[in-house]
Parts: sequence; structure tokens; C-alpha cells
Amino acid sequence: MAAHDRADPGLRTEALAFENVTHRFGHLEAVDDLTLSVASGEVVCLLGPSGCGKTTALRIAAGLEMLQSGIVRMSGEIVAEAGRDLPPEARNVGLVFQDYALFPHLDVQRNVAFGLRDRPSKEAEASALEALDQVGMAEYRNSFPHQLSGGQQQRVALARALAPRPRVLLLDEPFSGLDSRLRDEVRDQTLHVLKRNGTAALMVTHDPEEAMFMADRIALMRAGHVVQVGAPADLYYQPVDAFAATFFGEINRLDSEAWDGKVRTPLGTLSAAGMDDGTPVNVLVRPEGIKLLPTDGQWTVGEQGAIAKVMAARLLGRSSLVHMSVSLAGGGEMHLHARVPGRFLPSPDEVFAVDLDFNQAFVFAKSDAT
Ligand code: ATP
Repeated sequence: MAAHDRADPGLRTEALAFENVTHRFGHLEAVDDLTLSVASGEVVCLLGPSGCGKTTALRIAAGLEMLQSGIVRMSGEIVAEAGRDLPPEARNVGLVFQDYALFPHLDVQRNVAFGLRDRPSKEAEASALEALDQVGMAEYRNSFPHQLSGGQQQRVALARALAPRPRVLLLDEPFSGLDSRLRDEVRDQTLHVLKRNGTAALMVTHDPEEAMFMADRIALMRAGHVVQVGAPADLYYQPVDAFAATFFGEINRLDSEAWDGKVRTPLGTLSAAGMDDGTPVNVLVRPEGIKLLPTDGQWTVGEQGAIAKVMAARLLGRSSLVHMSVSLAGGGEMHLHARVPGRFLPSPDEVFAVDLDFNQAFVFAKSDAT
């Protein structure tokens, strides 16, 4: 999987492209050789931990940060290269930030029409109303921002960004100021509006679930680098390293070594093709990759795979988390988390055979581990 990415120009037009963009703050390399594109109609999420360079990349695209090296293109046109930056207002991008940033003294309709000042007033009014209608806020057109909830304000901010029909919409943690129920609702509506309009969007988030919800493709970043780019399912099922595997949620870790191109673990044998004998490895198994099968109730170490005893089970809503203890052949015990869809609440001390879903178990040399 290439971390560097360029949309196939034969398939769709490129709304936004970073080419070898590097950006330093003093000695700190905030963005390191970023090559990434967003096709027309595509939603791409820049995902990564705090400080990995997501916002800097977005600000460079917006023209809010002067480009130092590399190229930024929009719809094929160079909007920034070293020593030449098109100002933000000339790029035709829409911006949505966490803090709505509505003008408090303007009503909703005027807030949305603000970016349409260069158009005839009748046309600006119609476009503002159309954008408000799309986000379900037309009936609030005469309200002022302080009369609206956070979710409503963020919808108005989205309408304001969309009204001028931008080449690309840039969103920086747009939902993180909202409480969780409202966040789900506004996120859902935002995705519908983007897809209905065919708007290209680059969105920054540190929340992997949010990225998976919103993105056609995710660019996972770490310390200024893009680690992996792909569809959410690619990153989830084919992570390129331990960082990528662990970023998408809690994971069971086992230490082992590669021998004869294989890794033997108490849970089964996995492929370690290409690894030298004796290479220390991390085996990472998603909790949903652990299958619990009925046994005859005996608490022994099985010949094929492991036998595990329930320590506790908790319903987490759509799935249940089962804390298991696996008795190891050489003595000692290993703690495991298994996630089972729906309600699955075995009693403490119940015994299960453990089977692995090899699509959700990954082997990485320890030098790659986080
Ligand atoms: P967060 O989610 O916390 O905003 P991020 O991934 O968006 O993180 P950036 O805001 O792009 O990361 O910051 C990348 C690095 O650059 C961080 O170490 C940050 O402290 C640093 N940085 C960002 N802006 C500046 C600035 N104006 N001056 C100096 N350092 C900066």
C-alpha cells in the first residue's frame, strides 16, 4: 500500500492535490513530503494523533499557511508553490472549523450570504436559502447565532461554506465541539449534503470512528508523515504497521518470534513470511478477531488453539466485551479481550475454545511496533 497517493486522472478530476509538501516550524518538521489528492466528489479524512501535522496540511491547502516547499493544485491549477501563494479568498475553498465562527451581529441568512457578496443580491439570497435548506436550517434564517444550539450553528457554518459552491471544502475537527448525540446527527447530515452535492472535501479528525464514518479514503498521519492511505476497510484489515493497526481501537498484543516463516502463539499459528528466524514480533489481534466456541467445559490447554476462561463480560450496546484468561502451556496466564456482536454475557469461569479470525490478526516485526 503506497503512503504516497495520487488520484488516477483517468477516473475522476482532481479537486485538490498536495505534491511533496514539506512544512517546518523552526526545527520541527510538521508536514514531511506530503503527497495526497482528493478527487471531485470524494471525502478524504486526514486522521492522526494530536500534533501529527493534520491542521498544518489543511491550513496550507486553505492558503492560511504560506507554502514552504512542494506544490498545491486545485482543479489542476497551481494555487501554491514555493514563493507564490494564491490568497485564501482567490482559491474558492469552503472552510468549516470546530468553533463555527459565525458573525454574531448578522442573522443566519446574512451569515450564509456573506461569502456571496460579489453576486447580485437576488442570486445571493436564493443561493443562501438553498444552502440553508440543504442543512435543514431555512426556517431559522432570521435568527441570530446566539439563539441557536451548537449543532444548529455548525449547520449554518456548513451552509455558509457550501453556498459559494467551493472547489473543495476543508473541515478541521468540525464536530468536536458538539456533544455525542448531536455530533452523530450533524455528522450524518454533513455526509448526506456532501454526497448529494458531489462536493470534494478534506476533513481533519483525530477520531478513527469519525474518519471511518465520513471518509471515502483515509490518510493516516504520524509525526508529519502519511503512514497509509486507502479506503477505511483497507486501513482496518490491512494495516501497514503496528501504529496503523492500533490506531483503530483497542487491540490484544502478544509477543513472539518468527521461525520458519511462521509465528506460533497460544492462539494459533500465523504467517510471518519473509521474516528471519528469531525476529521478535508483535502479534496484534483485534478483540472482534477472537471467536469463542463452546467446549466440553474443561479448563485445559488444548492441542489446537487455546482454551480460555471468562473473567467478566460486559454489554457495551451493539456488542459485548468478554475479558478472558488463557492458560499458557509453559505456565502462567494471558489476558485477552474478545468482542462479540450483540448480547453475549457468559458467566465468570465459563470456558471457551478460542479461534482466530486471521483477517483481524497481524504480525509486525518489533522494530515497527509502537
Ligand atoms: P491537533 O489535532 O492537536 O491540532 P494536528 O495533527 O492538527 O494536531 P498541527 O496543528 O498541524 O497538528 O501541528 C503539527 C506540529 O506543528 C505540532 O507539533 C505543533 O505544535 C506544531 N505547530 C503548529 N503550528 C505551529 C506554529 N504556528 N508555530 C510553531 N509550531 C507549530
